[in-house]
Amino acid sequence: MMGNHRPNRVDGHAAQTASTHPMPDRQPSQACGGADAARLAHERQLLAAFPAMLFTCRPDGTWDYVSPALCVYTGRPAGALVELGWAAALHADNRAAGLLHWQLAISRGSPFAVEQQLRGADGVYRWFRIGCAARHTADGTLIGWAGIIASTESEHEAAAERALREQAQEARDERESALSTVGHELRTPLTVLVGQARLLQRRLEARAGVDPADQRAADTIVAQGQQLTKLISALLDAAHLDHGQLRICVTTLDLGALVERVALTLQPALPSHTLRLSAHRGPLWVAGDALRLEQVLHNLLQNAVKYSPEGGEIVLRTALDGERVQVDVCDQGIGIAASAQPALFQRFFRAGTESGQVMAGLGIGLYICKAIMDLHGGSITVESSKDVGSTFTLRLPRIQPLPGDTHNWPG
Ligand code: ADP
Repeated sequence: MMGNHRPNRVDGHAAQTASTHPMPDRQPSQACGGADAARLAHERQLLAAFPAMLFTCRPDGTWDYVSPALCVYTGRPAGALVELGWAAALHADNRAAGLLHWQLAISRGSPFAVEQQLRGADGVYRWFRIGCAARHTADGTLIGWAGIIASTESEHEAAAERALREQAQEARDERESALSTVGHELRTPLTVLVGQARLLQRRLEARAGVDPADQRAADTIVAQGQQLTKLISALLDAAHLDHGQLRICVTTLDLGALVERVALTLQPALPSHTLRLSAHRGPLWVAGDALRLEQVLHNLLQNAVKYSPEGGEIVLRTALDGERVQVDVCDQGIGIAASAQPALFQRFFRAGTESGQVMAGLGIGLYICKAIMDLHGGSITVESSKDVGSTFTLRLPRIQPLPGDTHNWPG
């Protein structure tokens, strides 16, 4: 019977044919008379037809039959698997425990189920659940055991994947908490430093007869301290972004009012540029994070100033473009070569200047701006010509605020 069986597929693993692994059909049979022998032969014929790894045992637990599928999987003939031969296919690491479990179940007559790694014909150990239940006659006499070996490989793979995912999440959480700590540790002394420097700066401003060099020194400390604060925030934002942890807190806000406010605060601090606001009439409602959108605007305006070293006009324009609210930041600066534009929003990208002029920067500002716009379901694009200037355009979905839903940005 076993020498002729058709190719079997065993629990999803590669099928091998009995012809490549000839299995002698020499499985022990119980000593039984003619009718019993015929019934036993019929039973085994039936079991052999199942594409599953099946076995039967005598009442003492020794195996007296294994199905062809088990022979195919292990690459061993039935004669080598019956009695206690199957135990040789168990992984050495859990063989002893598995056998002990087996003996206990047999001695108690209780059902048996254990996870074991079984060696395949290809030498690879895979996880299986070996389950077995006692067989009794109608009057309750134990006549043997019937068992099945089913693959649990996918469960183990899923568990391993789950464990990997959990490990990755833990690592992310640890990084996040380390980042927060670093951010806090860096910002706290810097805030104190800048605060004290500003105090000194104001005192000097109010005092008559101060040496201009002292005033300049105080101004420089304040400006550099503020610059350092911004750099630390940008680096921390980029790190959060890399770990998918940059978040926004959305409210309903009038983007036009926010842009106006930013323009008003920035204007006095621009000695060699003119900032012109061309505002849409009426509110421009969006669902947005006011602080993050203000950060984007500041970034674009600072770039407009930085990359227009000759000065000139910077235009801040708000408009409605269909169902989208649009903000343009236009400068008359050095512009960006067409070849550099596709990479502009990538992390640490800096477009070179033809003059070789070095302009301080990290190349993460636009990367963060794009991430913030993406989080808002919006976009940031650029149009630029070398030596003519650049226009950065922000677009956000326009919303209709519900009554009482509006967040009036403080002016
Ligand atoms: P950073 O200015 O710190 O280098 P950004 O991410 O803000 O970083 O900008 C990336 C690059 O894009 C800059 O290095 C610069 O080459 C170019 N760029 C950004 N804004 C402008 C602009 N308004 N005009 C010309 N080039 C710009």
